[in-house]
Amino acid sequence: ADWERSSGPEEPRVVVLAGPTAVGKGTVAQYIREHYPTVHISVSATTREPRPGEVDGVDYYFVTPEEFDRMIEAGELLEYATVHKVHRYGTPAAPLRKRLAEHQPVLLEIDLQGARQVRERMPEARLVFLLPPSWDELVNRLTGRGTESSEEQARRLDTAKVELAAQDEFDARVVNSTVAEAAQQVVRLMGLDVAPR
Ligand code: 5GP
Repeated sequence: ADWERSSGPEEPRVVVLAGPTAVGKGTVAQYIREHYPTVHISVSATTREPRPGEVDGVDYYFVTPEEFDRMIEAGELLEYATVHKVHRYGTPAAPLRKRLAEHQPVLLEIDLQGARQVRERMPEARLVFLLPPSWDELVNRLTGRGTESSEEQARRLDTAKVELAAQDEFDARVVNSTVAEAAQQVVRLMGLDVAPR
C-alpha cells in the first residue's frame, strides 16, 4: 500500500538546495530540469521584477506585494523570506504536497532562511548546501553575471558571507565545480539514482 511505501528508505525526498548568491543554484536547478525530468522543481512566488527571459509560472510566480501578503495570510506558503533585504520569496505548499503524494522527488532552490523554515516544518527534507570552488570564483560569478548594480552586488556578497558560515547546519555539501557533476550528486541525494537524459 502507498502508506507503507511512504516510510520506506527508497521514498523520493524533498531536497532543499541552498547556498550563497551566484554559486550557481539556479544553473544546477536548470540542468536538473532539463536532464532529470522525473524531478519536480518547485516554482517560488516572488515580489521582484522578472529579469529578461524569465517567464511567469516557469521561473517564478511574479506577484505584487499585496498578493504575497494574501498568500501568507491564507497559509499558502510552506516558507517565505525577505532575501537581500529587498524582495520577498516563498514556496507555495500545495504543489509540493501534491508531488510528494504522487511519490515524485521535489527540489526547492531557496535561501538559508527558507531552508531553516523547511527543516522545522518538514523534518524529512534533506538540506543540501552548494559551495563555490573558492571565494574568488564566487565573486567572479556574481560580478560576471552583470545583472545587478554594484550596490546590489555588495549587498549580495555580504549575504553570501553569512550564508557560507551556516554550511555546517546542512545534511550534505556539494561543490559546484561542474554543473553536471553537482546536479548528479543533488539528484542522488533525492533518492534517485538515474543517468541524465
Ligand atoms: P534571484 O532573485 O537571484 O532569482 O534569487 C535570489 C535568492 O532568492 C536566491 O538565493 C534564491 O535561492 C532565493 N529564493 C528563491 N526562491 C525562494 C523561495 O521560495 N524562498 C526563499 N526563502 N528563498 C528563495
